[in-house]
Amino acid sequence: MGKEGLMTERKYELDSYIKEFEAVVLNSFEKDGKKIIVLDETAFFPEGGGQPSDIGKIGEANIDYVFEEDNIVYHSSDKLLEIGTKVKCEIDFEHRFQNMQIHTGEHILSGIIQKKFNIKNVGFHTGSDFNTIDLEKELTDEQVKFAELKANEAVWKNEKVKCYFPSKDELANLKPRKMPVTDKPIKMVEVGTTDLCACCGTHVAHTAEVGIIKIIRHERYKGGTRITFLCGKQALNDYDRKNDVLKEATSILSLKYDEILNGINKLKAELSDEKAKYSELLSKFIVNEANLLYDKANIVGKNRIIVEFEDEISFRDVAKLSSNITEKSNSISVLLNSDVDSIKYVVSASKDSDFNCRDFANKLNSEFNGKGGGKPLFCQGSVKKCKRSLIIDWVFQNI
Ligand SMILES: [Zn+2]
Repeated sequence: MGKEGLMTERKYELDSYIKEFEAVVLNSFEKDGKKIIVLDETAFFPEGGGQPSDIGKIGEANIDYVFEEDNIVYHSSDKLLEIGTKVKCEIDFEHRFQNMQIHTGEHILSGIIQKKFNIKNVGFHTGSDFNTIDLEKELTDEQVKFAELKANEAVWKNEKVKCYFPSKDELANLKPRKMPVTDKPIKMVEVGTTDLCACCGTHVAHTAEVGIIKIIRHERYKGGTRITFLCGKQALNDYDRKNDVLKEATSILSLKYDEILNGINKLKAELSDEKAKYSELLSKFIVNEANLLYDKANIVGKNRIIVEFEDEISFRDVAKLSSNITEKSNSISVLLNSDVDSIKYVVSASKDSDFNCRDFANKLNSEFNGKGGGKPLFCQGSVKKCKRSLIIDWVFQNI
């Protein structure tokens, strides 16, 4: 995509705080359905090193993504601009500053973990809601807590964050946490006494600007540990959301926030007791209902025919009830259960009834636009919703 000899001057490299600048449009073209703008110099950060690209405006054009190829920075835009014009550019600084907080927070955490535990960061990802660092080895719960506390202490110290391009001689004397193999000038980031690392990203100028570093989760990942963490505004938003959930929970349960866990456990235990009681009662109900329906059944030839709607219990229990009925001799049971736009059915028969449930279910399905099937002595399915009397009458006539 690049043009030989062109190179975008990058204003963000040594100053992350440029929000507005002017630049000349060097190129503007459409490729693969995307509109692209190239400037002579830019403060837009192109995606890289785990940090998302900047967004903002170039003249009247909205920039939603920025990337680089062969030393040229490409701004993906909703408009093409006239080549050669000077344009005012504006970076969405709320978006950028959040990335600066996160990126600096990542340096602090990674620097501490490497210095203290000699464990390297092997992956970094920035997201809008949370970020992750992948470590080459496993970290214990205590080590994670320790790293989080030390990281926040580094924030409270409010140390200077310096970005610079060292000369080759200077570079030879530095011991950064990460050093790329490249002929290009290397940008070094020094985060107070906490970290020294070669890095292309954007950072805050003082550690206190990170606000807070909160590790919300850590888990085993590819033989090492994945740490999920939040910084600054992100962490505040997360606190807000969690606080809202807790406030609502305290109000629903009428409990203080530190009593909520006990409250939930108590409710769970009560629910489990109630479920056990319900299940016992239901078993009794099924036995009694089966006897009742069997006793009042219509007798046709040698068989007792039971046809009933059972809407008070779940369909699973309707199936149990039907089986319970037809454990008794010479019985055929057709139980129905109303659903939103269908009627579910269970057909079962005792062995000595000489009745084929499958044949009957097929007839029922074709008459009432239904589906389902099963074994000769037990079938289930559903039919299109209709008047109760219609289906009951039909069953009696066709059984
Ligand atoms: Zn960095």
